[in-house]
Formats: sequence, structure tokens, C-alpha cells
Amino acid sequence: MKIEYVCSICGKKNVKLWRPYGDSAPLICAECAEKRQSPRKYREKVWSKVGEEHFSGEYTDKELPLPKWEVNEKGKIPTNMGPAPEGMTMIPMTDQLIVDLSDVSKAYSSGSTTMIPACLTAEEDNFWCYTVVPEDVCKWWEELPTR
Ligand SMILES: [Zn+2]
Repeated sequence: MKIEYVCSICGKKNVKLWRPYGDSAPLICAECAEKRQSPRKYREKVWSKVGEEHFSGEYTDKELPLPKWEVNEKGKIPTNMGPAPEGMTMIPMTDQLIVDLSDVSKAYSSGSTTMIPACLTAEEDNFWCYTVVPEDVCKWWEELPTR
């Protein structure tokens, strides 16, 4: 059976969708994910510059709340490392979103579910495993509008 590529929450079509790691439902769009992002913390780091574009960070004992993320046009958000040092331009990004689905799904009520890009197979009846998505399918997903 073909999978309907629509957000399970708001019903939006023709946008990037994410799915829980190891499952095919619920599907969620960037905007619904942003509204449900799980509050996260990071360990504070003290940065020192060790080269043109290189910084070295040392952890302190402090845990701080991470700022809220917004999904960019490529479907990515900054990783959970906390704010980058001033002057650092290469910020590590991820396409995995951690969200609270407790209002959407009984199966995912933990408050923090890892969602990965939902990349359809050619038959549109299944999704590619996260680590083996072919390049053209990655591209198809990346080129879908984020919102
Ligand atoms: Zn949605």
C-alpha cells in the first residue's frame, strides 16, 4: 500500500516530513515539529581560539537550556552542542529532530522522540533506512519545501 506523504498532525502536503527512527508513523512536518520540540540542555563550554577557524572547548559544570531551534531550508537544525563561539562559522547541523509527540501518539509519549527524514522508496510503500538513503532520494527530500 502506498504511503500518503502528509503531515499526520496538520495534514500539510508537499513539504519535508520526518518519521520516528525505526517506524513509519506518525509523519511530522517542520512547523509541527518546531511547536513540539523537547526542551533540551547542554553543558556549558568555555571556548578558546586555537587557529583561524578552530576553537577548543572545555566543559564547565553548568547545564543550560538550549535555545529553541528552527528548521532551515535544507531541513536541518544546529546540533545540541549549545551556542558556538563568536567567530565560528562552521556550525555542525543535523537533520534529526527531537520532539514531544505525547499529544499525538500513545506509542511515543516519552516526551522526546528522535525524528529522521522520511525518505520514500520508489514504490512509495516504505521508507529508506536512515543510513542507506540513495543520493537522489536525499536530494528529492532536501528539495521539498521545508514549510
Ligand atoms: Zn504539520
